[in-house]
Amino acid sequence: MARVCVIGSSNLDFTVSVPRLPGVGETVSGGTLATSPGGKGANQAVAACRLGAEVAFVTLLGADPMGDRLAAALAEAGLPSGPIGRTPETSTGVALIAVDPEGRNQIAVAPGANHRLTVERVRGHADLLARADVVLLQLETPIETVRWALREARRLGKRTVLNPAPARVLPLPADLLPLVDYMTPNEIEAGLLTDRVVRTLDDAEDAGRALVDRGVSTVVVTMGAMGSVAVNAAGVLRVAAFPVEAIDTVGAGDGFSGALAACLAGGASVEDALVVASAAGSLTCTRRGAVEALPTRAEVLRLMDQHERRPRALWRDGGGE
Ligand code: ADP
Repeated sequence: MARVCVIGSSNLDFTVSVPRLPGVGETVSGGTLATSPGGKGANQAVAACRLGAEVAFVTLLGADPMGDRLAAALAEAGLPSGPIGRTPETSTGVALIAVDPEGRNQIAVAPGANHRLTVERVRGHADLLARADVVLLQLETPIETVRWALREARRLGKRTVLNPAPARVLPLPADLLPLVDYMTPNEIEAGLLTDRVVRTLDDAEDAGRALVDRGVSTVVVTMGAMGSVAVNAAGVLRVAAFPVEAIDTVGAGDGFSGALAACLAGGASVEDALVVASAAGSLTCTRRGAVEALPTRAEVLRLMDQHERRPRALWRDGGGE
């Protein structure tokens, strides 16, 4: 069984579809409200779970009705409740999202309980790190927690995947980079991390190499519909995205990182894991929302078959349906 430990954020997303995005001091009404589970940690944990990995998701919710709602959604997605903590000290993380008809958005986040996911709390789940094959992290929790988890994973000989998102919290402390086995920045994050503009696949390759020079083992820069570029000491690999009818790209990067972690944990080669991650990212774009849009293992296998890009073995068991 592929075992992934995800340590990260959970938010309840309140999304209002508005006729146009409001300007400063302006009110725009006439929209409809949708509430859905989100947060990069939750999205990536569900993504890995849907691909068939056994996932332990260490996260913290408030002791409020929003936390109840999220806890129910995470349980329904198949994530065990043990490492999902609750705190009365602050509210559940919330994202307020306005989306216009073209899909452009404005987002305000109140991190709430996510900022209380401290080293002490995560240390209480050290057994889950010890059980995991891969530890998957993002940057919506305190950086000290990310650092502790990366160090502990390294000490235990586990592979680490860091999705350095959201971009607004970059740059990263330099000491973290050598602790990362796989880093998955998108083009904006890759640019911020390396102080340049990343627009083309060549730019992505250069940025990836700069991060490898600073200590990351393998950097995978995701480039939306252009696909992704993986760089490590052995060389460079460009992986095409799957041509899909993209209607909402929210969550594509989360689908990609969650799937990558699941495949690596299952013993897939980097080359194979990247194809599966691309399929998962591309499929996430074909449906609205984040958690709701993440594909199942069967859907990923079907898309790869349609395009005759199915890797020989996805999982240690040879990758049956
Ligand atoms: P993020 O959501 O973090 O910005 P990307 O947009 O780079 O991440 O998407 C991650 C991956 O999802 C891409 O590498 C690609 O495989 C897939 N993907 C994203 N957008 C599209 C798209 N429009 N068409 C097909 N695949 C896509």
